[in-house]
Amino acid sequence: MLQTHGYAVQDASSPLAPFVFSRREPGPHDLHIDILYCGICHTDLHQCRNDWAGSTYPMVPGHEIIGRVKAVGAHVTKLKVGDFAGVGCMVDSCRQCAACHADLEQYCEKGPVWTYNSREYQSQEPTYGGYSEQIVVEERFAAKVPSTLDLKATAPLLCAGITTYSPLRHWKVGKGQKVGIIGLGGLGHMGIKFAKAMGAHVVMITTSPAKAKDALRLGADQVLISRDPAAMASHGTSFHFLLNTIPNGHDLNPYVGLLKLDGTMVMVGALTALTPPLTGASIIHGRRSVAGSAIGGMAETQAMLDFCAQHHIVSDVEVIAIQDVNKAFDRLLKNDVHYRFVIDMASLRSKH
Ligand code: NAP
Ligand code: ZN
Ligand code: ZN
Repeated sequence: MLQTHGYAVQDASSPLAPFVFSRREPGPHDLHIDILYCGICHTDLHQCRNDWAGSTYPMVPGHEIIGRVKAVGAHVTKLKVGDFAGVGCMVDSCRQCAACHADLEQYCEKGPVWTYNSREYQSQEPTYGGYSEQIVVEERFAAKVPSTLDLKATAPLLCAGITTYSPLRHWKVGKGQKVGIIGLGGLGHMGIKFAKAMGAHVVMITTSPAKAKDALRLGADQVLISRDPAAMASHGTSFHFLLNTIPNGHDLNPYVGLLKLDGTMVMVGALTALTPPLTGASIIHGRRSVAGSAIGGMAETQAMLDFCAQHHIVSDVEVIAIQDVNKAFDRLLKNDVHYRFVIDMASLRSKH
């Protein structure tokens, strides 16, 4: 077993603290990766605090991982020692169900093995995430990082990137469409960049007037302050598509009311109850849809990274030392992030 240093929470209220654990020895299909950077997704906060129930401890969070391949198993073909690899939210899936056959491993009928807070199928060993110095992963659950991308700013693409890219692609967002991105955080800022690169007219819909300038810098064509009813009304029913990244339950009705005929709002945040309820009238009028989307499959994750290399897209990051991770969690909770925290794992290595 590989002794690994990381940071873990021990229960739903304890802070992240140094933790030593074991990873499996690399097998023939595995990559052994030295982790260089790991992004901090709002999901990490939800999972550490058991917001969605089902959290198991100790928990090493982190699923926006960029690292350098240190060793490869005998049957590895795609990556070689020295390459940069990305690992996102999944490390395995059943490979036999319809979803897996359709390159949609995130919807695996057996349930994918998540990068952390999950268990390996065979060994039933717990999985531990990227707030750590190394990881062992099958190469089919790693993506090749294009050499032109800035590594620290690429880490968030492995979750925030693919989670916004996938629904924009699935609902065929593009030229001639008015698209709203709701919530300017880690996911939202990637949503702006992708929707813009795909050719849409992009409106950033935010509760934070102070973020308006940034939204325009990030590529939005317009900013709409959702707490201003007159501003909301001024957009009428003009949106083809909305991508909703708000992390908590909230009132969907005012947002759905912005959609035009046959428009769709896709939920990627808010996994819990939505209150007050969505009224039937909100979707019946205008034949509107409310849908959901989870990350993206491995093939699409690679396509997203290649799209980023082609369009010079990366995340806007604030790099931190792992010793400051609890402060970063506090700031994330207070909506004070511009627009993704990324842990530089050199700060972990220097301490042992
Ligand atoms: P984040 O960085 O904290 O950004 C969320 C943004 O939502 C905030 O910056 C804020 O933007 C807005 N917001 C926060 N609280 C709000 C409230 N009560 N009402 C209205 N707006 C609010 O979070 P993130 O990392 O982007 O993650 C967003 C959500 O997506 C989380 O719940 C996360 O777990 C989930 N997620 C889902 C998937 C998936 O596969 N579906 C993948 C990754 C993450 P403004 O200041 O602009 O309003
Ligand atoms: Zn995430
Ligand atoms: Zn499957």
